[in-house]
Amino acid sequence: MNHHRSSVLFQQAKASIPGGVNSPVRAFKSVGADPLFITRAAGCTISDEDGNSYTDYVGSWGPMILGHCHPQVVDAVKSALEKGASFGAPTKLEITLAEMVIDAVPSIEMVRMVSSGTEATMSAIRLARGFTGRDKILKFSGCYHGHADSLLVKAGSGAATFGVPDSPGVPADFAKHTLTGEYNSLASVKTLVAENPGQIACIIVEPVAGNMGTVPPREGFLEGLREICTNEGIVLIFDEVMSGFRVAYGGAQELYGITPDMTTLGKIIGGGLPVGAFGGKREIMEKLSPNGGVYQAGTLSGNPLAMSAGIATLSLLKQPGFYSALEEKSRAVADGISAAAKQAGYPIYSTRVGSMFCAFFTPGEVYDWSTAAACDTKAFSRYFLGMLEEGIYLAPSQFETAFVSAAHTDADIERTIAAAAKCFKALR
Ligand SMILES: *Cc1c(COP(=O)(O)O)cnc(C)c1O
Repeated sequence: MNHHRSSVLFQQAKASIPGGVNSPVRAFKSVGADPLFITRAAGCTISDEDGNSYTDYVGSWGPMILGHCHPQVVDAVKSALEKGASFGAPTKLEITLAEMVIDAVPSIEMVRMVSSGTEATMSAIRLARGFTGRDKILKFSGCYHGHADSLLVKAGSGAATFGVPDSPGVPADFAKHTLTGEYNSLASVKTLVAENPGQIACIIVEPVAGNMGTVPPREGFLEGLREICTNEGIVLIFDEVMSGFRVAYGGAQELYGITPDMTTLGKIIGGGLPVGAFGGKREIMEKLSPNGGVYQAGTLSGNPLAMSAGIATLSLLKQPGFYSALEEKSRAVADGISAAAKQAGYPIYSTRVGSMFCAFFTPGEVYDWSTAAACDTKAFSRYFLGMLEEGIYLAPSQFETAFVSAAHTDADIERTIAAAAKCFKALR
């Protein structure tokens, strides 16, 4: 495949945009290639400036669960735009989406809309701190919660891909309030809680980790966090920016039956437009400005185009059978890739929760950041480039999740598995 035009555009972009991209993992740096410049996408197919088309498993990093350009979403956005792009005043659309989110997500009694997942987690943490009057927060190594200062500590994919677990520009005075546990290790949490009695405002966790590859919670892990938080007066925050409306309509909390105190959302709820949200127990949410003293605001929060895309998307997801059909497709593709590796005699460790999956280039079980970091990233890069050549567009890092959409057909999945079989054989 020829990527000439993309490479020329990338050179041009680098003169005006740092690294040529507006978000680091887009740069293909860790796989030693230039990024593709995209012209358009429809269904599960994405097309680049050189006229190549690919079956897309990135899905804009999660939002495109319906596939690209679903006609109902496109219509909703178009008709909203014709009425005005933004008012900075309340609209009925915001109530509709808020009520849909409250109906869907067990922990959410009230919700506030923002414009990105980063804003959602940053605001949720501020609120948890304001609510508890405590400063410290506990996160897990390899979990990513956006790029707010206090959260850029041992933060998975983007940071991990580039080998900078901590970012310059984050004052040590901020980072010192962030405690880091090991994913799937309740023992690590218990130690930190014991060492910091009465000081931890919240534990924030991806209930299905999706930013170090896909790492499911082990049995008892989320239950254990719930119990520790309840006993210690710590606010439990599930960061469901990725897993929300992805692994089930009600997110991971519905799937596993564990209800946190607060939840952050993003990605899918915007249907491809910039949206985030955070919500939770009424007594906590009431502390938010203008009701309470914890300040949080946004010029474009609850934007009518984004609300319309979100409402249209959630309406489609709510239809009976949506998630079971997606589950079948996802199982077929993830199991098919895993079987292809096995047949080629190439060792990988496969994980999947619903339509999130990952092929880790390691024979050993992956259950936390250090086991994920043991992967052969060089072999992954060769696999990634091989798949791209076969017309399969994966995320350009070992430490990312692949997303299946409702638009992937059986034929797309068969082609994907055949491509994987060829790539694994070439690696051996
Ligand atoms: C993507 C993501 C975020 C950040 O969302 P942005 O919209 O990129 O700011 C936060 N948490 C999780 C779990 C994510 O996957």
